[in-house]
Amino acid sequence: MGSQEVSTVDWQGKHVTVAGLGVSGIPAARALHERGALVTVVNDGDDERARAQAAELEALGITVRLGDGATLPPSTELVVTAPGWQPDKPLFLAAAEAGVDIWGDVELAWRLRGTNGREAAPWLAVTGTNGKTTTVRMLASILEAAGLRTAAVGNIGVSLLDAVLGEQEYDVLAVELSSYQLHWAPSPRAHSAAVLNLAPDHLDWHGSMEAYAADKGRVYEGNTVACVYNAADPATEDLVREADVEEGCRAIGFTLGPPGPSQLGVVDGILVDRAFVKNRQKQAQELAEVSDVNPPAPHNIANALAAAALARAFGVEPAAVRDGLRAFRPDAHRIEHVADIGEVAYVDDSKATNTHATEASLAAYDSIVWIAGGLAKGATFDELVTGAAKRLRGVVLMGADRALIHEALTRHAPEVPVVDLDRTDTGAMSEAVEHAARLARPGDTVLLAPACASMDMFTNYNKRGEAFADAVRARAGTSA
Ligand code: ADP
Repeated sequence: MGSQEVSTVDWQGKHVTVAGLGVSGIPAARALHERGALVTVVNDGDDERARAQAAELEALGITVRLGDGATLPPSTELVVTAPGWQPDKPLFLAAAEAGVDIWGDVELAWRLRGTNGREAAPWLAVTGTNGKTTTVRMLASILEAAGLRTAAVGNIGVSLLDAVLGEQEYDVLAVELSSYQLHWAPSPRAHSAAVLNLAPDHLDWHGSMEAYAADKGRVYEGNTVACVYNAADPATEDLVREADVEEGCRAIGFTLGPPGPSQLGVVDGILVDRAFVKNRQKQAQELAEVSDVNPPAPHNIANALAAAALARAFGVEPAAVRDGLRAFRPDAHRIEHVADIGEVAYVDDSKATNTHATEASLAAYDSIVWIAGGLAKGATFDELVTGAAKRLRGVVLMGADRALIHEALTRHAPEVPVVDLDRTDTGAMSEAVEHAARLARPGDTVLLAPACASMDMFTNYNKRGEAFADAVRARAGTSA
């Protein structure tokens, strides 16, 4: 089978430039060095941390050049880059001019898999603008429930290279791929793959929506069993149509409504499969109940259906889909229920860092006090506010770009009370929670779903979520 072919690059004496120290660069440099390549690591930064990392690699005999990630070392035969490096960097332009290939961490992992004497495990791959991590974790949970040796890897904190070259043997890998990673990965061929949704994001990096979509669409190239698309997002189906897949590979849709043939969907609160059943014209197979999905918000049911589709494509039995979904616990700061105070629920969706994600979380509740704001990254908020206006009890705004959200609220929801905190310091969160508590009525949800990045006020979205949870718990303590 094409996807199981193992490449046989002769690394001995090959001059490889690794661009970027860091989570992917360091294991890449080590793996290539171990295989006899002559590795030079180049890195823009030259801080204390970089120097310490450089010293470790140099001790192995790897050359490291700090403070200059722009110049291509002479005699370079291959560049292996960290996924985040922007394609228009001078280093890449020089490589292109010299006819030198550029591989990302995923390409390298694909090429090196199976070279350590272990069987190369097939990949079930997930990409999309939002929901990747959740879906990949759900998928891994389902595969585990089916008794398969698996792990959630990729753009999820566990390096694909480590998984592919490590001691552990796997039957199948649940792989999260970002658009950056896909950009630098021409060869990988997944067993099956899903694009969850497509909304404008990272356009500064990719250059255009078309380029972003094309990079996401790469995930379908060469799939052998199923290309899973979102029936509510025709752009994902277009990508399936454009992909060059193995003969017999099927397009499988997921929908929150009743499924057509070759789709998974929902009927009367039950997740059903009308794709991987004998007679899909007439039959549907029950997989799980909506209440088995945690939390059972609409976008998360979509994630569960995508995970189920990939697992079913791999041959997993329906009972394991149900057990895996039941066992799944969402990661922190993703629609995380923090506490109920009085009859008001406090929910942390700090990971909603763009409007598409926030739209999904606002759609999950009927009456909301919404805490938002931060760095807008060029986004506009009119559509988001228009869609949610009816369900907003009130809004508390903070952060650098809060005025953009405030203006959209004035235009589309002038009757909704807004507290504009005019603050960008970390301590603003407890004041935001105080105001939100005052605005909330019994039955409401106070929802932190900022629609913005956090770096104007916090180190990252984790810290922002923790600040929210701390403020809520402090209130819960005082009101108990
Ligand atoms: P990613 O790995 O793609 O960033 P996560 O699973 O970490 O995705 O979820 C990020 C945020 O996106 C969540 O906090 C939630 O607000 C939102 N989200 C999750 N799934 C979806 C979906 N299918 N559609 C839209 N938004 C989603």
